[in-house]
Amino acid sequence: MLGRIPVITVNHRGAARLQGGHLWVYRSDLVPPIDAPAGALVHVRDQRARSLGSALYSSASQIAIRLLSSDVITPAQLPSLLRERIAGAVQFRQRVVRDADSYRVIFSEADQLPGLILDKYHDVLSMQALTQAFDRDELRQVVIEALSAHFPDCSLVERVDPHIRELEQLPERQSQLLRGTRSSTILTMNGVRFHFDGLGGQKTGAFLDQRENYARAACFGHGEALDCFTYQGGFALHLARVCERVTAVDSSRPALEVAEQNEQLNRSAHRCGEIEWIEANAFDLLKDYAGTGHQFDTIVLDPPAFAKTKRVVPTALRGYKELNLRALKMLRPGGVLVTCSCSFHVSEADLMEMLGSAASDAGRRVRILQKCCQSQDHPVLLNVPETSYLKCVMADVIY
Ligand code: SAH
Repeated sequence: MLGRIPVITVNHRGAARLQGGHLWVYRSDLVPPIDAPAGALVHVRDQRARSLGSALYSSASQIAIRLLSSDVITPAQLPSLLRERIAGAVQFRQRVVRDADSYRVIFSEADQLPGLILDKYHDVLSMQALTQAFDRDELRQVVIEALSAHFPDCSLVERVDPHIRELEQLPERQSQLLRGTRSSTILTMNGVRFHFDGLGGQKTGAFLDQRENYARAACFGHGEALDCFTYQGGFALHLARVCERVTAVDSSRPALEVAEQNEQLNRSAHRCGEIEWIEANAFDLLKDYAGTGHQFDTIVLDPPAFAKTKRVVPTALRGYKELNLRALKMLRPGGVLVTCSCSFHVSEADLMEMLGSAASDAGRRVRILQKCCQSQDHPVLLNVPETSYLKCVMADVIY
């Protein structure tokens, strides 16, 4: 112990990881005995007793240590450090977010608040505590008070992911309203409106990380468009502003029901091309369209993460290739492909190689218009590769 702060010693590999700029140390790199309460602020040292900084400790997760600071922080200093980091995160978004009332305000490691996520959907904030530390009452109170000061007109809901609470061995808790009276609202990004419900049986919302890509897709998109994996219509509603016709596909009926409600929100407000919502498996539908010779001018592929672990990357890439190959074959000359992967384990290089191989198999000459990633309100912390997960490549098929 150092005063009241538990000390945790990490082995050579753990120390090298922190010195290399990562914020995590895995449980297997801790040196026993470990004497720290769940969720505690701890002081981290290497095996020669040199200080590596202060961290938040989890007694359950494989990610045992999440570094907060390279300095030694005392429990008494922790609240003001958190307040400073929250203020920094809020100010950063004020600089980078344009034309949207909804964005990620706190992105965990990338805002040096490892284990805390906060999204703003117009006047409703949605908080997720991913670790034992941010589940502790003292820390939660500091966070909630700081958020009330920065966003006095917003309600605050806590979104609970039961799987994460299980991994962190935290008692079950329901998603709940922590502050204010509203848990649902209507949000606007790039002038397009969406329903958001932070607590309802059917979770609704928009993928905030695609916000800038929605706007870019609407710059390149034209003619007849196909949005595979549309969810609640993110790309489809943006494309409807510039395309003649949009076909939007998802396998989830509840998601499509919200998408249709979102369409109603937008239809009166501005130009909106015709949208057809189709409940189907995108793989099967693309196959059917190929069989009937259907062609499009714009195709968006934004599937769920196919590679949840490193082991399944080859299988995932086969899935991505099948989709991209079919899409490229059914694009008219001059047609635009927007292809995404939100799998952290699939790198941009993997995605580009897959796309190159799909283009050559399809016999198409494909030009990269833009390589994009997650919106700027989800910044990437260098040396913490896990903060960089979304890839979105925009390309066109030339003659
Ligand atoms: N493009 C969306 C987000 C997509 S999330 C947006 O910007 O908002 C992935 C979606 O894929 C989910 O809505 C899920 O229901 C859908 N999905 C998963 N497997 C599918 C399949 N085989 N065919 C069609 N949709 C699928």
